Amino acid sequence: MTSSPLQHADPSLQALMEKRPNLTLTEQGLSMSGVALSDIAAECGTPCWVIDATFLRKRYRLLKATMQATGLDIALHYAMKANSHLAVLSLLATEGAGMDIVSIGEFEKALHSGVPPAKMIFSGVGKTHQELTLAVSHAIGQINIESAEELEMLAEVCTHLQKKVPIALRVNPDVDAQTHAKITTGKAENKFGIAFDDALALYAKAQAHPYLEPLGFACHIGSQITNMAPFNVAFERLAGLVRAAREQNLTVKTLDCGGGVGISYRLEEEGSISSLAACLSQHFSGLDVKISLEPGRWLIGPCGVLLSTIIRKKKTSLTTFLIIDAAMNDLLRPSLYEAWHGILPLRTAAFSQPQEHVAVVGPVCESGDTFSSDRVLPHLQPDDQIAILDTGAYGAVMSSTYNARPLATQVMIENGQWSVITPRLPLSALWERETIPFTETET
Ligand SMILES: *Cc1c(COP(=O)(O)O)cnc(C)c1O
Repeated sequence: MTSSPLQHADPSLQALMEKRPNLTLTEQGLSMSGVALSDIAAECGTPCWVIDATFLRKRYRLLKATMQATGLDIALHYAMKANSHLAVLSLLATEGAGMDIVSIGEFEKALHSGVPPAKMIFSGVGKTHQELTLAVSHAIGQINIESAEELEMLAEVCTHLQKKVPIALRVNPDVDAQTHAKITTGKAENKFGIAFDDALALYAKAQAHPYLEPLGFACHIGSQITNMAPFNVAFERLAGLVRAAREQNLTVKTLDCGGGVGISYRLEEEGSISSLAACLSQHFSGLDVKISLEPGRWLIGPCGVLLSTIIRKKKTSLTTFLIIDAAMNDLLRPSLYEAWHGILPLRTAAFSQPQEHVAVVGPVCESGDTFSSDRVLPHLQPDDQIAILDTGAYGAVMSSTYNARPLATQVMIENGQWSVITPRLPLSALWERETIPFTETET
């Protein structure tokens, strides 16, 4: 793989490949766990999401083994909002994962994929009366309470149902996760969690209630965290809270440490799960608590790519635009968070071709529909295909049909084979549920 690289702060195509062990270059082009991505693109068309189940299983098992090695009692609850496809849920359920859910829809999907309610944790700042009722009647494993107001509503619900419910109080440790502002959740000004100073009084109140069973505390400080320092601060505060609670004769059995471990999209190093394990050991060994983790992005993010075809190459006096057939309605992260995603050509030969600066954009009528305003890529032409990397998490789940673009096909790879797991939305589905009211027939 030789090329004439232009000077750029971005990782080279080779560097992107080296950090992604499930991607290889073969005679058939860029391949994912042994499957040529161009075969999928040829049969399914583009845009098309691909999830590598082989790699997902590997990452889940590595995370589980790393946590087991600490000797602590650590349970994994996959944060299913990252990618809630039934095939993903069912794979992880088979591996033994519990689920972190945030809505009635996620509850039903998790149930449908074979996860028992006892292995679900219900998170979120705005759980409705209906959602709390459903969760309590199904004897959900744990509800994470985010405010005094929510606790009051839940008390009402379980008193009415005469059913006891295990809860944790989600506290806001007021730490800066040092990540993008839109995915920071553990600062005092964020909407999430209960102020640290109010937690014990509320916990005591819950413990005195006949139908509330407080198990412990929860915190989730943000997402795409690659440096362990914020976890260190948050866990130290949690451990302090457990000790303070026990001094007041409150019973604490569990700590839910949330998710948030980051992955390597661009130049950052992937969040180290062994450092996370060390950090958990440092703060919680000897504390006699069960621990839950709620990983989302770390598990599934690197397991997905979005395949796309170049529609047109448009040159202006300032910029060469690659207009591709994937757009912000498919992958929202670049528009929403200025997220950087690696882009690789599917043709092996392209890896050694001369390169140029291009802007990679979608066809949607928004300037924000930009995957990259300046990227160094080989000279690509219309009909050439690319893979947008690390789209397994917060990818397909954030898609919309904006510009009346149908939701893209989704494919899963496992054991060298691939299968469509969601067909492209038929165009008629774009208006199928819509009706035209107040039309009067002419007299
Ligand atoms: C989003 C979320 C997670 C998962 O975050 P990742 O960054 O994807 O690991 C875990 N717990 C809660 C409460 C969340 O809101």
